[in-house]
Amino acid sequence: MKTPYFLIDEEKLLQNLVLLRSVAERAGCKILLAQKAYSVYQTYPLLAQYLDGSTASGVYEARLGREHFGKEVHAFAPAFRDGDVRALAKLCDHIVFNTPAQVRKYAPLCKSKGVSVGLRVNPECSTQEGHAIYDPCAPFSRLGTTLSNFDEGILPLLDGLHFHTLCEQNSDDLERTVLAFCDRFGKYLPRMKWLNLGGGHHITRADYDVERLVRIVRGLREKYGAEVYLEPGEAVVLNAGTLHTRVLEIVHNGMDIALLDVSAACHMPDVLEMPYRPPLFGSGEAGEKAHTYRLAGPTCLAGDVIGDYSFDEPLKEGDELVFGDMALYTMVKTNTFNGMPLPAICLQRRDGERVVLRKFSYRDFKNRL
Ligand SMILES: *Cc1c(COP(=O)(O)O)cnc(C)c1O
Repeated sequence: MKTPYFLIDEEKLLQNLVLLRSVAERAGCKILLAQKAYSVYQTYPLLAQYLDGSTASGVYEARLGREHFGKEVHAFAPAFRDGDVRALAKLCDHIVFNTPAQVRKYAPLCKSKGVSVGLRVNPECSTQEGHAIYDPCAPFSRLGTTLSNFDEGILPLLDGLHFHTLCEQNSDDLERTVLAFCDRFGKYLPRMKWLNLGGGHHITRADYDVERLVRIVRGLREKYGAEVYLEPGEAVVLNAGTLHTRVLEIVHNGMDIALLDVSAACHMPDVLEMPYRPPLFGSGEAGEKAHTYRLAGPTCLAGDVIGDYSFDEPLKEGDELVFGDMALYTMVKTNTFNGMPLPAICLQRRDGERVVLRKFSYRDFKNRL
């Protein structure tokens, strides 16, 4: 197959889905796909066999979820326009608003369409140090209503409360967050029909403590008699895809640099934004194996560098390299900066067959402008 391409691994996807289904059944909660992390709708029919629906950050994702995933569709955004809410009310089962003012403004429309209304709260409990841009509880956060900004006048309009504060975290951090949430908002919880604990639960990671998650969810259900939702993105497709690239050229400037046919800036922007070093099959840390290279993209951005990696054998033009864990926050984030082509999206079926789900061309570049 011609590089570059993303390859989704159906077998691994299925393993994640089976685990999530068992968590949902044991905990007695519903689990939604956060489409923000992964929106390859061609695989939604498989996901829909195991998950309870999808959640959206706006009208486009909600529509995709309604048309291709089915089941429940939820939406949240930090602020909605009038037209957004009118469209969402036709697509969604739940809409979560960010402030009491948005609840007051839009709850009547939602209720008239039979849509359940929620408020995102900020439990003011930071549990992550590493990545401040992913901490909705950081100082001056606009995400979620703090207790001091809560307005009890909207209680009759609310069906549920939502928080989302985690990112790639284990259930010990969820437990701390739930304690803070109950400490601040506990007095309102008995009247809620549902509680949505957001995403960021790294449930399908090997060291994730599932037993604790099950205890936490059951505890909330029993104490408050509410339905509980989780809406992970990453955990659904963790390690379920790869990005395949080839070496275009090796150059030398103080060190060996391998130019690839993928770009960090265009094809895995989280490498620069988060930032992080993506796993690469058959490689080691810089200096660990005999031959170290800086892997870099073919764009004109000086900082389009994926990272430094080492190999047992020297790299040469045409070698294929395979980056791991490339299903999440990649295909939804690619762009054509520098006129870069987009990698094809392929699927490795369980029976071993490989199919191309989507190819891109010059038109995709041109049509966005
Ligand atoms: C991003 C997001 C999620 C999914 O987060 P993951 O880290 O991918 O699990 C869920 N809910 C909300 C509100 C989000 O913004």
